[in-house]
Amino acid sequence: MKKIALLGSTGSIGTNTLQIVDAHPEEFRVTFLAANSRVERLLEQAHKYRPGMVVIADESKYTLLRDGLKGTGISYAAGAKALEAAVRDHEADIVLNAIVGSAGLPATIAAAEAGRDIALSNKESLVMAGELINRLCEKNAARILPVDSEHSAIWQCLAGEAPKDVEKLILTGSGGPFLRRDPESFDSITPEEALRHPNWSMGKKITVDSATLFNKGLELIEARHLFHIEAERIAILIHPESIIHSMVQFRDGSVKAQLGVPDMKIPIQYALGYPGRLPSNWPRLDLAKTAKLHFEEPDIRRFPALRISREALEAGMTYPAVLNIANEKAVYRFLNREIGFPEIAKEVEKALEAHRPLDPCSRENILALAEML
Ligand code: NDP
Ligand code: MG
Repeated sequence: MKKIALLGSTGSIGTNTLQIVDAHPEEFRVTFLAANSRVERLLEQAHKYRPGMVVIADESKYTLLRDGLKGTGISYAAGAKALEAAVRDHEADIVLNAIVGSAGLPATIAAAEAGRDIALSNKESLVMAGELINRLCEKNAARILPVDSEHSAIWQCLAGEAPKDVEKLILTGSGGPFLRRDPESFDSITPEEALRHPNWSMGKKITVDSATLFNKGLELIEARHLFHIEAERIAILIHPESIIHSMVQFRDGSVKAQLGVPDMKIPIQYALGYPGRLPSNWPRLDLAKTAKLHFEEPDIRRFPALRISREALEAGMTYPAVLNIANEKAVYRFLNREIGFPEIAKEVEKALEAHRPLDPCSRENILALAEML
């Protein structure tokens, strides 16, 4: 029985994770739940799963949480600092970090310092502080288990392979809803259009990232830190059907791919069940029905996010952290209709140009940058 600390339980990845727990009551128990503001949903989950501890990051929801848990014996707290402390102190076998954005970074750092297994959905942590997190994991014998579907695919393809045999990683991406849209009309893209992803149902921030392709840029940086491979050996390939979740090319010319229906429960369950595989009942891939798989090079002119992300990764230092913060800020401004769609990439580029780089292994530097939001 694995004890799971689930951070971001009220979101898309969080609720998918709870479905996996429901399907495997003999394998998993949720002992800690955390979210930000959806207190009713968090309380429902607390009553159903009976964790030992529940934390809400938004302090204004404290009394609602307290009143809702009255008589249950469940411990509770509110605030970002309380969340960080609870992640450090709570004895879980695995911390699944599904908080969205840079708000997830302190929890990843706390879990790494506590030497936990971290099923990491919050890719922004690694983008902002990959070197620091890797260092903490090594020092405290913590492990990062990828949840992001592309990285889960690569991880599965690498099983049993020697690092020296790997020639390159091929990250696939659907291309998002604007793959075929006339770039001349990108100015008029509305948040509603950007939130309509062709293949995946996800939270708002990552859905917009998938439309700009900053998601693929963040995943490039994530892959660099997860698999310790140089940026030049990580390729990006557009694959609109989202059936091949990523590939690894080896030095003998062989290529391994991981395939499946686009359902995040598969990579989440793989991370939770690792090193074994657990059974599942969800729909199977039917390749005869899919019939055709397509691939193409990404169009860097249409999607400058890919070029900007690669440049930030190559520049190193705190550039990737700034890329992440500026993107997050711009995404919420776009969702609030304060800026247009093409301005997201422009704002990120502006922030990178203005940045004076700092030591990326300093916890204080990175957390201070994160608080600039
Ligand atoms: P959602 O927006 O659906 O959920 C985000 C979760 O984070 C919610 O539970 C939210 O709480 C919580 N949260 C937000 N801010 C804070 C905070 N300051 N402190 C604590 N909790 C907070 O996002 P997703 O589930 O889509 O994505 C989560 C992460 O997983 C992201 O990093 C994303 O990039 C990554 N990911 C997601 C995929 C997907 O399919 N959705 C695929 C691959 C990666 P509340 O709801 O209470 O406000
Ligand atoms: Mg992904």
